[in-house]
Amino acid sequence: MIQLESLLNLILPVRCALCSAYLETEIGLCTNCQAKLGAPKLEGNIIHLGAYHGHLERAVRALKFGKNRNVAVPLGRRLAQGIRDAIWQVDAIVPIPLFVLRQQTRGYNQARELAKSLATALDVPKLEALRRVKSTKRQARLGKTERSSNVREAFEVLAHVRNLELVLVDDVYTSGATATECALALIEAGAKRVRIAVISRVLESDSKSKSR
Ligand SMILES: [Zn+2]
Repeated sequence: MIQLESLLNLILPVRCALCSAYLETEIGLCTNCQAKLGAPKLEGNIIHLGAYHGHLERAVRALKFGKNRNVAVPLGRRLAQGIRDAIWQVDAIVPIPLFVLRQQTRGYNQARELAKSLATALDVPKLEALRRVKSTKRQARLGKTERSSNVREAFEVLAHVRNLELVLVDDVYTSGATATECALALIEAGAKRVRIAVISRVLESDSKSKSR
């Protein structure tokens, strides 16, 4: 399947994941669509590119469901710019893992693709430090209280993280329950600091009106 994909890339011209314009030297998104991505926003320990609607929502969907992994490259570069502007010390980038079965169904983990691109842009390692240890029900179907109990103790730390300043990466930040559980697990394992970079932050008012 991967071979077929790269073969097709050689034969077919590569197009922008959002507007289908032909790409020349750009990766994933054309220059116009890249310009429409939001500027990085810093909110406490979170860096994101904006609310989950419009252009950003389409970019997240392209990364998650459109099987266009290259979209992760411009998004990761934009987040890297935010991290540099915020002068965060970063020792490694840690993707929030999907549950194994879900990853097998989808074929890849969008957080891992994003982490790869962000780590490359910042020239720091990507560290697969976490593993889900039990299945979680789909978050979107649960209320806020259920959400936090649903993910409790769902992560295990696999890597040596003592004294490291880490950035957790995911596509979307909704209730924050998953990221908080990951951060707590890493801190318990000795991490010095854990901060978060996501493409988009879903506000409660947005998430009520959207089914994701
Ligand atoms: Zn475009």
